[in-house]
Amino acid sequence: MSLLTVGSVAFDAIETPFGKTDKIIGGAGTYIALAASFYNNEQNIVSVVGEDFPQEMLDQLAQRNVNLDGLQIKKGEKTFFWSGKYHNDMNSRDTLVTELNVLEHFDPIIPENYQGVDYLMLGNLSPQVQSQVIERLTERPKLIAMDTMNFWMDIAMDDLKKTIGMVDVLIINDEEARQLSGEYSLVKASKVIRAMGPKFLIIKKGEHGALLFHGDSVFFAPALPLEEVFDPTGAGDTFAGGFMGYLASTDDISFENMKRAIINGSALASFCVEKFGTERLTTISREDLDARIEEFVALTNFEMVHVIG
Ligand code: AMP
Repeated sequence: MSLLTVGSVAFDAIETPFGKTDKIIGGAGTYIALAASFYNNEQNIVSVVGEDFPQEMLDQLAQRNVNLDGLQIKKGEKTFFWSGKYHNDMNSRDTLVTELNVLEHFDPIIPENYQGVDYLMLGNLSPQVQSQVIERLTERPKLIAMDTMNFWMDIAMDDLKKTIGMVDVLIINDEEARQLSGEYSLVKASKVIRAMGPKFLIIKKGEHGALLFHGDSVFFAPALPLEEVFDPTGAGDTFAGGFMGYLASTDDISFENMKRAIINGSALASFCVEKFGTERLTTISREDLDARIEEFVALTNFEMVHVIG
């Protein structure tokens, strides 16, 4: 099937208790596209970079069969730059710098050959841009998923709620779910948020896994217990890319298949955090991914023995 990803392609500078990077390649769109490239789909991306963005990374995406017709390169302008510093627990971070640059006036142009796309993944971007993309598609995709962050809740809540009302799956973390709903209990939060529109809600809980809510059903997927989390940047985007890549390649949007998609996303995210930036994602093979998915299956698999008397 075909999958369209919309998201930032960026430079990041990251500081963790393990070390520090200069400008490296990042961006939600980059992580989503890399993760989704492990699945057999026609992949498209809508994004924007400046003249300073390295051609090698674009070549790498192209080699992974990502169609770059919708990636605008702005002459004389600079790529979006984000810098963050993680606290010792690696679960929380401070944003040190956000330079919007090319993202400030981003007009998401949809190339004609992207029309009719089957699956749409809206990465974390301004909710106005996200809704514009949906409105510019001449046919509604089979499934639209979106990610967002507290930043947009703080400055653009009305626009954000409008966009959330247009999608099928919302993917956010526990803190964001609480802020969006005003409820502490994630079960209550899931009801409030689903009343805004999305039939499916995924709440990510970092090292504590992820929850999928739909109707009266809930599914819980653990995160793989890792000895060391080196850099969590992009884990959420990688999760989303794996989730949508798997769904598109199997072309099955049932609750049962979404469970499998979540395990695929979690397995890819567990690789992402092992090295800085996109490094680990660009070096693993399909076999590495399959082996890790088996580890997930083993992690929660048990047989109940019925004791009589
Ligand atoms: P995550 O760790 O999943 O929250 O995603 C981190 C990625 O999101 C980084 O690679 C950043 O370049 C990108 N990012 C951070 N803030 C924004 C923003 N306001 N808009 C778009 N992308 C962003």
